Amino acid sequence: MIEQNLQELRGQIADCARRAGRQPEDVTLVAVTKTVDVPHIRAAVACGAHDLGENRVQELVRKYDEIPDVRWHLIGQLQSNKIKYIIGKTALVHSLCTLSAAREMDRLCARDGGHVDCLVEVNVAQEDSKSGVTEQALPGFLEEIAGLGGVHVRGLMTVAPFVEDPEQVRWVFARLANVFAKLPARQGDAFEMKYLSMGMSGDFKVAIEEGANIVRVGTAIFGHRS
Ligand SMILES: *Cc1c(COP(=O)(O)O)cnc(C)c1O
Repeated sequence: MIEQNLQELRGQIADCARRAGRQPEDVTLVAVTKTVDVPHIRAAVACGAHDLGENRVQELVRKYDEIPDVRWHLIGQLQSNKIKYIIGKTALVHSLCTLSAAREMDRLCARDGGHVDCLVEVNVAQEDSKSGVTEQALPGFLEEIAGLGGVHVRGLMTVAPFVEDPEQVRWVFARLANVFAKLPARQGDAFEMKYLSMGMSGDFKVAIEEGANIVRVGTAIFGHRS
């Protein structure tokens, strides 16, 4: 099942990428493994899924020890008091949106001169239930974290509102892609607008068409979470 799902998904991602004038390999699939048990995750890894996403720190850390040779992405809320557990374990944090989290990363990294690659989460649709900085607050937030050597900004991320018809959230992706394109492409080592993480099982096609180069997909690979 997982193998079939991945194959089908990769085909769909490739089609969307080409339709949007890009190469299939320009879009990274992050397989979202939250609530999925280790044997099922191993099955996906065996089928070539090497970028895995978790939304909870404890779950990521637990699976980190059991599943080697993959790149872990933290895609969920980031409490400052848990950051110490993920330093050195994540390829990319998708959900940076508070100054306190950024400062804590910087503080922890200062010891060994390392850094954490992060995307800034933007709450494009300004939903109360979602985290992320608003589009209006983004420039100020980027400025505030610019001096923190332990935080490297690598792009932007958003979670669109849940809707039946993904066409209803196309504007969300288009809007963030526009913001992404207008930011400086690069400013030193600590700032590079490289990744635009948008799209989940229900809306990844529309997100890729609008410019996503990372999609985060769980249900379409592993089935519905209980
Ligand atoms: C759970 C989750 C996903 C994956 O959602 P699916 O609908 O299962 O594909 C993507 N992004 C974030 C931030 C999530 O929490």
